[in-house]
Amino acid sequence: MKLSSRISAIKPSATLAITAKANALKAEGRDIIGFGAGEPDFDTPIHIKMAAIKAIEEGFTKYTPVDGIVELKDAIIHKLQRDNQLSYSRSQVVVSCGAKHTLYNLIQVLCEEGDEVIIPSPYWVSYLDMVVLSGARPVIIKTNEAQGFKMHPQQLEGAINKKTKVIILNSPSNPAGVVYNASELDALAKIILKRGILVISDDIYEKIIYDGLPFSNITSVNEEMKNLTIVVNGVSKAYSMTGWRIGYAAGPEDIIAAVTKLQSQNTSNPTSIAQKAAVEALNGPQNSVAEMVEEFKIRRDSIVKMLNDIPGITCMLPRGAFYVFPDVSALFGHSYRGMIISNSSDFTAYLLDVANVAVVPGVDFGHDNHIRLSYATSLRNIEEGLERIKNAVMKLS
Ligand code: PMP
Repeated sequence: MKLSSRISAIKPSATLAITAKANALKAEGRDIIGFGAGEPDFDTPIHIKMAAIKAIEEGFTKYTPVDGIVELKDAIIHKLQRDNQLSYSRSQVVVSCGAKHTLYNLIQVLCEEGDEVIIPSPYWVSYLDMVVLSGARPVIIKTNEAQGFKMHPQQLEGAINKKTKVIILNSPSNPAGVVYNASELDALAKIILKRGILVISDDIYEKIIYDGLPFSNITSVNEEMKNLTIVVNGVSKAYSMTGWRIGYAAGPEDIIAAVTKLQSQNTSNPTSIAQKAAVEALNGPQNSVAEMVEEFKIRRDSIVKMLNDIPGITCMLPRGAFYVFPDVSALFGHSYRGMIISNSSDFTAYLLDVANVAVVPGVDFGHDNHIRLSYATSLRNIEEGLERIKNAVMKLS
C-alpha cells in the first residue's frame, strides 16, 4: 500500500516503541526492568476516580462542547490564575485529548510549509515529528551539559530568521529535567518580543520540580509575552492521569478558536467522564502532588548517585520531571562478544539484550551521547536495574 508522503516522513514515538517492546518481552517471560515509560507509576488519586464514577452514574456520558465543558474551562482558568498569576477568559482556553493532542493541534493550526519552528535540544521526541507533519521545518538549537542544557539567548537570536514562526519551550524538560529560572526566561522573552515570534510553552511537568525551585513560564515572567504565548498543560503527569487523556491550551483567542475548529473535524470533545475527573484534579485537594514529588525526589537522588558510580557514565542532576539523561559516550568503542557499542542505540540494544533493562536512546532526543531513563518506577526496580546496568558496563572491554 502506498501511504501518504506525510505519514512516511515521520517515525513512531521512540519512547512508546521502547515501552511496547519491553512489555512484549515481559509477556514472553523475560524479566525486563523498564525505564522507558514517561508516566508516573502512582495510582490516580481516589477523589479524582470518584468524580469520574459519579459522572458515569449521573449519565454524563454524551458529547460535550468540542473545546471542553464550561466547568473544566473554569477550573483551568482558576488554576492558571492561582498557580501562574495568568488571566484568561473561556474563549482563550481549549481542552484536548492530552497535551500531546493539544500540541499537535497547535502546530497544525500555526505552521505550514515555508515556516520554521525552533526546538531547543535535547527535546521531547514528539515535537520534531509534529513539526514535520505540519510541513514546517524544525530548527534545532543544540545545548550541552556545560550550559545545563539551557538555550543561551544568543543561540536563540542566531536561529531566528524571517521564516521563524514558533519556538517551543519546555521547562521542566523531558528528557534532561532542565528548569529555566525567571531571569533566564526573561532574557529569552526580550529577544522573542523584538522579533514577534510565537511561543508554545509546554508546562506539562510544572508540578514535578525539586529543591524548592519555583516554576515560571515565559509569560508569567514577562507580561508582554501574553499575546505571543500559548500555554500548554494537562493533568497526566501532576495527577497520575496519563490514561485519561486531558490536556489544554490557553492563549490568544484566534489561535484557540482555530484549535477548536480542527478538533471539531477530528476528535470532537475529549471524553466527558475524563473532563469531570480533571475538574476534580484541578479544584480538589492537591496533597497527592506533593507526596508524589517527595517520592520522585528520593528516587532522583538515588538514580543519579548510582549512575555516577558506574565507570564511563556521568549524569547531571535534573531539577524537574522524572527522567535522567546520562552521558554514556565514554563507553563508545567498547564491545562485548563482538557487539560493538558505537552510539546510544547500540548501547540501548546492548542493555536490553545483556542486562534485561529497557532505556531510550538519546539520539531520539537529539543527543546521541546520552540515554534517557525514567525513574517513575519503584526504588527497588531502580536499585536492581542500575545494578544490572553496572554489571553490563563491567563486561565491556
Ligand atoms: N509534553 C512533554 C514534554 C511530555 O513528556 C509529554 C508526555 N510524555 C507530553 C507533552 C504529553 O502528555 P499528555 O499527552 O499525556 O498530556
